[in-house]
Amino acid sequence: MTNKEHSKGLFISFEGIDGAGKSTHISFVQEALRQRGIRVISTREPGGTPLGEALRALLLKEKMHLETEALLMFASRREHIAQVIQPALDAGTWVISDRFTDATFAYQGGGRKLDLNKLNALEQWVHPDLQPNLTLLFDVPIDVARTRLDATRTLDKFEQEKSDFFSDTRNEYLRRATEFPHRFKVIDSTRSIETIQHELLDIINEICTKAAS
Ligand code: ADP
Repeated sequence: MTNKEHSKGLFISFEGIDGAGKSTHISFVQEALRQRGIRVISTREPGGTPLGEALRALLLKEKMHLETEALLMFASRREHIAQVIQPALDAGTWVISDRFTDATFAYQGGGRKLDLNKLNALEQWVHPDLQPNLTLLFDVPIDVARTRLDATRTLDKFEQEKSDFFSDTRNEYLRRATEFPHRFKVIDSTRSIETIQHELLDIINEICTKAAS
């Protein structure tokens, strides 16, 4: 069953390695949707609920076993779906999430090398029938992302990882974009913010037209 068949809201996830530009474009897309009369909320992972935000604080700071990290990501997600994402979609509100399950495959699977079968099993457990309708993958070479991050913020546990980790994470994202072409759009994020926003407007027009038909 697709999301559209059991709810009116559409689910859009923003993905990409740290520094790719996800946060930069979320408010732009949210505002563009609002201008088209669409009710839309934005949220994030890990996080999105009080429990999820508490788990986020642990996940971004504490060292832990790789599988503990993956399990906590999915625990946060379970709560997020139950408390925020599914109720919004059911009420006809669109949801933009800064990261969703593709990020767990990319970071814990690609970056940390956790067996993808284990992640597939967790995904089947936590959200067997829910997938984003659209996943915007902001893609940049890792040196570009690193330069942007260094210029702007204190780095968290993931952002401090070595370049191999980020290139493996980026490659897993790109692999998934190839595996699920019906929902992924890969955005070349090396371009200017303005150029990217023009492309985002085209994508928004396309999904709004589809959603209305
Ligand atoms: P993410 O949310 O993917 O980690 P951010 O949106 O926080 O990335 O962007 C990281 C930094 O890079 C910010 O300072 C942002 O202003 C800058 N940035 C984002 N996109 C671009 C772009 N296309 N060109 C130049 N700088 C950018």
